[in-house]
Amino acid sequence: MMQACGGAGFKRDLGVERLLRDGRAGWVMGPSNEVIKQFVGKSSLFGVECLDIWSQSANRRTLNAELLKLKDEEKLEIAQQLMREVEMNGPLEKSDSSSYQDTEFDNPFNTRPSVSRGPITDVNGTEHLAALSPDCFFPLKLLSVIPMGDKQAEFQFALPQASQHTGCLPGQYVQVRVPLDKDGEKYCQRYFSPVNATTEFGRIDLVMKFESHGQLSQRFKALTPGDLVEFRGPCGGFEYESNSVKHISLVASGSGATPCIQIVRDIMADPGDQTSVSMLYSAETESEFMFKSELDDHSARDERFRVFYTLSKGAGQETWQGGEGHIDKDMISNHLVGPQVLEHKVLLCGGPTMIVSVMRILFQMEYSSHQIFVYGPFGAELVRAVFGRNARLSSHRFER
Ligand SMILES: Cc1cc2nc3c(=O)[nH]c(=O)nc-3n(C[C@H](O)[C@H](O)[C@H](O)COP(=O)(O)OP(=O)(O)OC[C@H]3O[C@@H](n4cnc5c(N)ncnc54)[C@H](O)[C@@H]3O)c2cc1C
Repeated sequence: MMQACGGAGFKRDLGVERLLRDGRAGWVMGPSNEVIKQFVGKSSLFGVECLDIWSQSANRRTLNAELLKLKDEEKLEIAQQLMREVEMNGPLEKSDSSSYQDTEFDNPFNTRPSVSRGPITDVNGTEHLAALSPDCFFPLKLLSVIPMGDKQAEFQFALPQASQHTGCLPGQYVQVRVPLDKDGEKYCQRYFSPVNATTEFGRIDLVMKFESHGQLSQRFKALTPGDLVEFRGPCGGFEYESNSVKHISLVASGSGATPCIQIVRDIMADPGDQTSVSMLYSAETESEFMFKSELDDHSARDERFRVFYTLSKGAGQETWQGGEGHIDKDMISNHLVGPQVLEHKVLLCGGPTMIVSVMRILFQMEYSSHQIFVYGPFGAELVRAVFGRNARLSSHRFER
């Protein structure tokens, strides 16, 4: 059975993601009920092959008539533009993609299997072993919950031994699961980016945004210290290693800042790390910025780090010193390093609307697609939606 609906929530820009998400749920969604009525009616009358809901087949006669009105130089300009588009969308050359890349739904930028970090030797020569494994879930005890406004909170869990580290590199994420029934046969599992520095031993800290009907986040809201939650990881994400890249640009919105916070904390804790970081961080309200005073402090004291905040819905107070509105071209050119800087990765983490609009600006500014790592399962689709089917994808590491 086909289920169909139309409404204001439809965003044409998010076509690929929307189709994947709705397709999996067995839904077809259109921008309005009128369009979706046409879709259902025409598909039952003529079959799916004949549908052209967006009028995407060109009318040659009209096109030719329009072309006749152009001067030669205008024709040349269009021809060049079309050639560029054909090149971008041509078949992907085999040599450009690694055998792992785009094979895992959850971790599309992987150019080789995710790394699980081995023992860490500290300055005293003590060896710290990894607590988590990517292959199975381990129960961890909740130590404390620190509220961060009314929409999110930090959950601090104890690793089995105080000397252990998580097993993740900065930028990698883990999976957590909670049982949905008493027998523990059904689970709700979701990905999370730990926020504490990876060299902080004995703990793993998550910051979670509470979704109003979110299966997992509502269960987390009810947790109290001493409760157990199962963890597995690392499961994917960008693998940052000290000095592996000269510059990192972090672009985050809302709770998407979590992997960025961890990378910043690791770099700031390591005086030997010369990688510099610029961060553009957008949220709806000032209270949604995570760890703002800590980020401000790093930026004031350490020249390796700069941060610029923007309130996407505008500032209510005159005292606000950051930007207002969504992340735009001016913010990117004023606060991130340019596309010409070599050994530079741009990490995007947040909702698909922010990611697509920032990526469009990066494309206009001639950043290359393989500089851009996107968190989340649809990252590769979003890069291709903007940079063309033939876009060279980023790796989950910095590779020279
Ligand atoms: C790599 C990665 C890292 C992540 N890191 C973090 C992180 O550090 N912190 C963080 O907070 N999140 C993070 N996330 C997101 C996280 O994994 C979850 O998706 C998020 O917490 C929501 O899960 P949930 O089970 O609470 O909500 P879900 O149950 O998945 O619901 C999602 C949304 O759909 C709505 N919804 C659900 N059911 C219905 C329905 N029947 N009708 C209408 N609407 C409905 C909910 O209200 C909610 O807004 C990360 C995701 C990825 C992929």
